[in-house]
Amino acid sequence: MSGVRSVYIKTYGCQMNVYDSDRMADALAPEGYRPAAAPEDADVVILNTCHIREKASEKVYSELGRLRVLKEQAARDGRQMTIGVAGCVAQAEGREIVARAPTVDLVVGPQTYHRLPDLVARARRGETAIDADFPTEDKFARLPAPDRRQTIARGVTAFLTVQEGCDKFCSFCVVPYTRGSETSRPVAAIVAEAERLAEAGVREVTLLGQNVNAYHGAGPDGRDCGLGALLFRLAEIPGLDRLRYTTSHPRDMDDALIAAHRDLGALMPYLHLPVQAGSDRLLAAMNRRHTAADYLRLVDRIRTARPDIALSGDFIVGFPGETEDDFAATLALVAEVGYAAAYSFKYSARPGTPAADLAGQVPEAAKSERLARLQALLADQQRAFNAGTVGLTVPVLLEKAGRRAGQLVGRSPWLQTVHVDAPLEAVGSIVAVTVTGMGTNTLAGRLAGGAADQRLGGAA
Ligand code: SAM
Ligand code: SF4
Repeated sequence: MSGVRSVYIKTYGCQMNVYDSDRMADALAPEGYRPAAAPEDADVVILNTCHIREKASEKVYSELGRLRVLKEQAARDGRQMTIGVAGCVAQAEGREIVARAPTVDLVVGPQTYHRLPDLVARARRGETAIDADFPTEDKFARLPAPDRRQTIARGVTAFLTVQEGCDKFCSFCVVPYTRGSETSRPVAAIVAEAERLAEAGVREVTLLGQNVNAYHGAGPDGRDCGLGALLFRLAEIPGLDRLRYTTSHPRDMDDALIAAHRDLGALMPYLHLPVQAGSDRLLAAMNRRHTAADYLRLVDRIRTARPDIALSGDFIVGFPGETEDDFAATLALVAEVGYAAAYSFKYSARPGTPAADLAGQVPEAAKSERLARLQALLADQQRAFNAGTVGLTVPVLLEKAGRRAGQLVGRSPWLQTVHVDAPLEAVGSIVAVTVTGMGTNTLAGRLAGGAADQRLGGAA
């Protein structure tokens, strides 16, 4: 350890990046790096980046412009500021980042951030340190366990990456190129990490993977273990009362996972199950390997297993060749499913992906107009779902203080944000809350004192 220094990590993109940023902070902690409150105070600033859409990547370069000014100011004040780029832009662009933004001292891909202490040390000696390998060693096995105090400071919910990479090769998506092929962590490593989280007061864990339900890790007996069996194992850990997972591919929703939604009380009734589009012609061009009817049948099976499950999805509008009829098929699928929440995007051509070279790129104005129509429908569905919970008494995990004194913020089983008046000591408790009203994206409630309805519609 070489004296106390500080690191500021700014995270872009998905939950997997949020998890990775915490692990990068954990990797640097034994070297004496503590979290800085703002980039201007930090000795090391790392941007943990996202490459999924063009806008996400471009944001990184404008932020690097701002950081260059801070770095120059630090140098005038006699301080050394080291600037790093991590994550999927780092993986995709590697050394080119330094050519475009010479202020960058280090570049590290998502598979090698366990080597961050060495890269930072080299950068601070004046080298440009670049590592965007796909190494053979297991990154997770080499990362230090998070410090218990840090885990407590991060709150009562946590992410836990169980699977990385993707072999699906949807024709629009960069993930198979930036995150590599599918790998799953062994069950024992995941259980050990989850036990440490629970022991530090975490009540809810969300298992993460680019394609999480393709999880197939080595079980303690050496045999293959799927996500359903992993969830059952994690539910045995004392104190871990809630489990979630994201993001899933429809092709990998197997019977064991659907059965877990039926039988495992700790598995929350919320499922993010992207479909992307409703037209079979487009689904084939996207290489999704399922049709709209396959998806609808799957939704039926899941709802038969867990009737109150809240579904969310991802949608892309304006994929190359999308006609008004194709788009109408997406609207029709949305109308049939009824989503509780959703994420929808304009198609963004990503260099190196097959769809970027397809004919029939859709004009920007048509994409914007379709996105607005889709989002209006999805917003109506979200409002309807939320309205269906008003008047119910539901179990809420209280997560943190709210904006107003005396107010706490928590989550319902269906991932709705709930505001409720309760004492600060109640953070970390799961309490019965009667939902009294709703805002655009949140619910308001009051402590009920008694038992909660465990399922929508009140069937406990
Ligand atoms: N693995 C997940 C799945 O199978 O759907 C999704 C992972 S991806 C990080 C999150 C979402 O970004 C995708 O579901 C898709 O809707 C969107 N996305 C990916 N590539 C995109 C692109 N080129 N343009 C617009 N949206 C994109
Ligand atoms: Fe990308 Fe998801 Fe398709 Fe994999 S399954 S290629 S992560 S959209």
